[in-house]
This record gives sequence, structure tokens and C-alpha cells, in this order.
Amino acid sequence: MRIFKFGGASVKDADAVRNVAKILKTYEGEELVVVVSAMGKTTNALEAIMQSFANGDQKDARRQVDALYIFHQTILAELFSSSSHAPNGAIDALFEALKTRIEGSFSGDFHFEYDQLISFGELLSTTIVNAYLKNEGFSSAWADARTLVRTDDHWREGRIQWEVTEVLIQNSIKSFIDEGHSIIVTQGFIGHESNGYTTTLGREGSDFTAAVFAYCLDAEDVTIWKDVPGMLNADPKYFDNTVLLEKISFKEAIELAYFGASVIHPKTIQPLKRKKIPLHIKSFLNPSAPGSVIQESLDFDDQIPSFIFKMNQVLVSLTPKDFSFIIEENLEHIFGYLNKEKIRINLMQNSAVSFSFILDESKADLSQLVAYFSADYLVKYNKNLELVTIRHYDEPTIRRVTAGKKIILEQKSRQTARLVISD
Ligand code: ASP
Ligand code: MG
Repeated sequence: MRIFKFGGASVKDADAVRNVAKILKTYEGEELVVVVSAMGKTTNALEAIMQSFANGDQKDARRQVDALYIFHQTILAELFSSSSHAPNGAIDALFEALKTRIEGSFSGDFHFEYDQLISFGELLSTTIVNAYLKNEGFSSAWADARTLVRTDDHWREGRIQWEVTEVLIQNSIKSFIDEGHSIIVTQGFIGHESNGYTTTLGREGSDFTAAVFAYCLDAEDVTIWKDVPGMLNADPKYFDNTVLLEKISFKEAIELAYFGASVIHPKTIQPLKRKKIPLHIKSFLNPSAPGSVIQESLDFDDQIPSFIFKMNQVLVSLTPKDFSFIIEENLEHIFGYLNKEKIRINLMQNSAVSFSFILDESKADLSQLVAYFSADYLVKYNKNLELVTIRHYDEPTIRRVTAGKKIILEQKSRQTARLVISD
């Protein structure tokens, strides 16, 4: 059994879906679980719909759902021009369910409602991809990840309940195989909690779903199909002359993903490492190229420095108003708030009298945060910063990255330098 994951860009239009089928043709005879994300920017569109729904703006939500319907309908029309296998009925039913949702009343529990609504993206994409594969002669079947991936009820960030999930996935996939299916198409990113409500695994969580299936099925390997040639040593958006990391260790990949390398979701590697299941990252535009492989051996890790850039960072510094030192009690208070608001911090540092942290401006409500902490702390913040992480750094690479910039904060360990810089 092998696991493939196709992300949003790889199914963004009819041509892209045809390309997926073309890739799968070259794996004929293999048993595959194919994990698929929502098409193109559908998840972003659903987030906007969720916002309108929560704001009580039904008209706007409805208008956006209509646009999303047209987007999917266009893909359907192109893929199934003269076929009776088009899944129009199933797609219409999903859109009816989505409309019913936004026309209902908002419970007030944003995170819960978010999961129930956002999950439509993957249900739509997998319905289309599976129908298309069948139409092309594959013996493909559709598996509902909402019945296979069991999480707790942390809405928007469901944590896998491994033991239950393992049984559910093994039984289901086995029966599909026994029925003669060689390709099982399922949704990335979504699962369910013990009462049956839908949960999601965090944005970009489909990679992680692929790892969950691989772990539970003791898969031979996982391949994530991307629009980049593999794992690069830097994001080509910010860097010329990127280098392909052909082979790196699980350990190194965990570090890179944790620091924000956007090629793979950070949670993806751990389950694979545990079972030593190699992870390939390959280009769906050039499927015969070898891409990158993430595997057990550490032998290739420190040959190439890697750079991870995070833009639009905010540095927040808190100093107790009563001139006291920063102690565990303060940290508990600060982290309690960050955890409750689901704010992820990218770097932290403390001194005797202040605690500083870096966060993505787009992922937090800064004015609310400042208002909250102003009760007990002098709050200072500094926007428009860049956070650069360099793995396997040396002084010349640091100089190159910081040339002409101001270094606001710097942290170094043996392998990793982290720099907060501004223009
Ligand atoms: N569709 C979800 C997202 O865009 C999950 C994924 O693509 O991995 O966040
Ligand atoms: Mg996506």
C-alpha cells in the first residue's frame, strides 16, 4: 500500500485533475490511498463564507456559495462533457447541504461551526476526483474520512486518537481492497470526534492526513505531489538559486517544518518517522523527476544551509507594570491567553523584566491582545518584521541575509540561527 497526497493546486481545474489521472496511470497495479485537498483556493473561499455566516450576513454568504458552485460546476462540465458518470447529483446535494447550513442560525461557537462548514471543500473535490477516475476506468472508491479519522473535539485542530483511527482505517481500507478496488480516494484535513461531528486538523492539514493513513496501514511510502520540484533549501518566492534537498532525514524535516518551511505540514513527519515510512515530495508537473525523499538516515543533512523566511511578523514585549520580574506565574498567564486564542508564537525570549514573542500579524487579533495584556503589563510591539531561520548556518550566510537590515533579535543554537530583522 502506498499513500499519495494531492494538494489544492494539483486539482485546481479540469486540466489539473486530468493530470492527476495521468500520474495515477503510471502506478497501475499498485494499491493506493489517494488523499485529496479542496480544489484550488476553495478552503479560503469557505473561510470567507464562514465569516459572513458568523456576521449574520446571509446574503453575502449566499453570493459566495453561488460563486463556489460555479467554480466546481465549471470543472465538472469540462471533465465530464459527454459522460453519464458525472457526479452532478452528489455535488448538488453537497451544495444543498452547504446552503442549508448558512441559512440556519449561527450557534455562536465559531470554531465548531467552522469545522462543519469548511469540510465541504474536501468532500466536493474528492467526489469529483473519484468520479473522474472511475470514468477513466480506474477501480477507484470514495472513502469518507469523517468516518475514518477519529480526533478529539479540539475544533479546527483536532488531535488524532490513534488507536481508534487505526482500527477504523484498517477495516475500511481492507474491505475496499477485498471488493477489488485498487485506488481509494479520501479527503485530507477532515475527521470526526466521538459524537460524529466533523473536525479539521488545522490549515494545510492534508499532508498530515496522508501520514495518518500511512501510519495506520503500515504503508510502503508516502508521496506528496506539489507544484515545486521537491523540498528546496529556501522558498523561491524569497530566494534565487534555491537548491533541491534530494535526501534529508526525518529529524531534519521536522526541524524545517517546525520553523515554517511551507512544503510540508509540520505534524506530517512524526508518525512517518515512528514507522520509518519514507516521504517523497515530487512535482506533479514533472512526475518522473525524483524529487526529495525524507527518510531515516542523517548522512545528508548538514551539507546545504536552508533558509526559512516568515514575513509580516510582530514582536510583542510585555513588562510587568509593578516592576516585578518575569516569573513562571507570568508565563502561565501569558501562555494561557495565547493558547485560549489559538495564537501560535514563532519565537520567544525573556529577560529579567520582560517577555517577548513573535507572531504572524495575520494570525492574531493584535489590538485585542494588546488590550488584554495592558491590564497587567506595559505592552510594546513592533510590526513589519521578518523572521529568518537558517539551518546549518555559518557567519557568511548570516551576513548575506542580514545585509542592509537591522537585527532586532538573534538566537543561535549549534545548527540553527534565528534572526528577527527589519529594513
Ligand atoms: N484544504 C485545506 C487547506 O487549504 C487542507 C489542505 O489543503 O491541506 O488548508
Ligand atoms: Mg489547500
